[in-house]
Amino acid sequence: MKLRTKLLIDGAWADGHDRFETVNPATEEVIAEIEEAGPEQVDAAVRSAREAFENPDWRDLDIHRRAELLWKLADAVEANLPAIAETETRDNGKPLFESSKIDIPFVVANLRYFAGWADKLAGDVIPVSGPFLNYTRREPLGVVGAIVPWNFPLNLASWKVAPALACGNAVILKPAEETPLTALLLGELALEVGFPPGILNVIPGRGRVTGQALVEHPGVDKIAFTGSTETGRTVMETAAGTLKKLSLELGGKSPHVVFADADLEAAVRGVTTGIYYGKGEVCAAGSRLFVEEPIRNEFLEKLAGRATATTVGDPMQPKTRLGPLVSKAQHERVLEYIESGRAEGAKVLAGGNATDVDGRGFFVEATLFADVTPEMKIAREEIFGPVLAAMTFTDMDDAIVRANQTDYGLAAGVWTRDVGKAHRFASGVRAGTVWVNTYNRYDPGSPFGGFKASGFGRDLGRQALEEYTQTKSIWVSLT
Ligand code: NDP
Repeated sequence: MKLRTKLLIDGAWADGHDRFETVNPATEEVIAEIEEAGPEQVDAAVRSAREAFENPDWRDLDIHRRAELLWKLADAVEANLPAIAETETRDNGKPLFESSKIDIPFVVANLRYFAGWADKLAGDVIPVSGPFLNYTRREPLGVVGAIVPWNFPLNLASWKVAPALACGNAVILKPAEETPLTALLLGELALEVGFPPGILNVIPGRGRVTGQALVEHPGVDKIAFTGSTETGRTVMETAAGTLKKLSLELGGKSPHVVFADADLEAAVRGVTTGIYYGKGEVCAAGSRLFVEEPIRNEFLEKLAGRATATTVGDPMQPKTRLGPLVSKAQHERVLEYIESGRAEGAKVLAGGNATDVDGRGFFVEATLFADVTPEMKIAREEIFGPVLAAMTFTDMDDAIVRANQTDYGLAAGVWTRDVGKAHRFASGVRAGTVWVNTYNRYDPGSPFGGFKASGFGRDLGRQALEEYTQTKSIWVSLT
């Protein structure tokens, strides 16, 4: 597929009010100059989406045909998978192994899963007093603004776009400034398979410009946002002005707990991928490790060995497991956190340095800190990089207290062979997802979202349909 660099509005490629560069973080080379949507283009996208939403071509489209369109979009993404995965890797830096085997296949599966819901959005018939029939309908919201981050560019876009379209909405997708390329390809494929113009508009641009204008716009009915907790707060304040519906999937500082009775080899593998997969730029990264005291030394030694052996390098190489961080800014940010860990007295057991390929790229070694205390910055703040903070615990109650000692509540992991302990921990931890003897598992059918400062609303699963429909109650007199 040819790279697209313009805005996709109303089925046509349009210029913006300005341009920005998107950079390959492995080589530091500019991949392309991208058009940025200013307030005028955002307004054009909203008007186009509104018209498309109200047009009988979409509003009255047979529900089975709507399902078929989503299925065809999945087929089109699958047919172009190698090109899309490569583009994602060049734009984000994630290993090709991840984009081609995990991220983009998930987009395909997700589109198919929500295609399956398009013709099954049933309401209820409700028993009421008197001679009346009362029933509910699940109706689309209208125009949905989807604002997504740079860590899983197309995958997270599909978490919003697939259910929103399945429910009959029109969507305006704003990808992150760092990674706009695959969202534009998705828009192109949607047009090709037959979605009406305006049903999926794609408008890259900076958050403070394009994102802000989209959230402020009175013609947008809902904002579906994934990103940092800080930006989520700003989005919520802005959305209050027009009383928009909102779902926020925000940051995390997820606890990963290993009991002494766990299968330690499996736990070492799980904890490693829990933090280093996706370069640690993962909202659900298991970034706080709690090891039961008796196995502390043995476990950390094995873990340090595995972290040191993680292949850092050119993300295009099939054996690479840790690519460059997404941008220079993120690279600097993560290195500052590593310095703060050292300064506050934590001990580096693995990694701890910037690295490069032929003198270039925003790479950081897989880093493991021991002797971390809960007050340290690296134990409290979302680093969003390959940096693990290891601590210990004494028993189940202590594990739950420590795991919950955070403002966040996105995910948690626990490793034990004792089924009772696993369930006690899963019920005691305050997090939207709990993984037992595994980590970072996702499925289009399983809901995902946060407790506490990790946000509200759910992506994926049947629950996501609630986010993109509203309920209408209808009373019919039977007399
Ligand atoms: P942001 O939360 O700022 O970005 C997420 C999305 O929101 C992007 O599309 C961004 O656009 C957009 N955005 C930014 N500001 C506004 C605004 N005022 N109104 C509307 N939309 C806006 O993440 P950052 O890229 O700044 O990353 C900073 C940190 O956030 C990371 O280091 C990490 O800790 C955390 N983060 C968490 C994520 C998660 O999945 N939980 C995902 C990404 C980041 P643009 O990128 O173009 O500015």
